[in-house]
Amino acid sequence: MNVRKLLIVPLFAIAFLSFKPIDKKIIVIDAGHGGQDKGATFEKASEKQIVLDIASKIKEINNSQSKYEVVLTRDDDSYPSLTERTDKINSLNPEMVISLHVNRTPENETSKNGHEIYIQNSDASKNIADKISKKLGNCSISEKNLHILRESKAPAVLVELGFINNTEDRKYITSQKGQKEIAQKFVEFFNEQ
Ligand SMILES: [Zn+2]
Repeated sequence: MNVRKLLIVPLFAIAFLSFKPIDKKIIVIDAGHGGQDKGATFEKASEKQIVLDIASKIKEINNSQSKYEVVLTRDDDSYPSLTERTDKINSLNPEMVISLHVNRTPENETSKNGHEIYIQNSDASKNIADKISKKLGNCSISEKNLHILRESKAPAVLVELGFINNTEDRKYITSQKGQKEIAQKFVEFFNEQ
């Protein structure tokens, strides 16, 4: 066998291996609450389930995209503590963190509706909130001293996706259609970064 033939196979192998894609940048989606902590509830609807459903759909829709890898802080009905969540986030060193929540007011039915975003005291966090606000529709944006925002080293925002005790909001955020639309908007936002 001549020497050239002997070299071809290993050279192909090296060329192939060197095309392994570089690691994608990470975006963390934190589905708030979980397990015993249901978050806001209304009859059978619970915040912990709504945000898990939407977080899972964001990951699923994003999987067909190539730019970012979406990592969830929980992908089932478990309750990682707030410290466990931010430890995981800081070990991943993501591009950004989006924590998903659902609002509730004390009364049975509220006329309040729509989104609210809480941010860190940084331009990067404010910038993410502004862009999400454009996608979801007008959101009120304010700083808040919350664990996930305070302890995440990466730019982070906490998004309240609607009011569980507003009938229209609840119908939307518990429906397949509404959840898919919301997830799609987040993935569009990621791809515009
Ligand atoms: Zn919450």
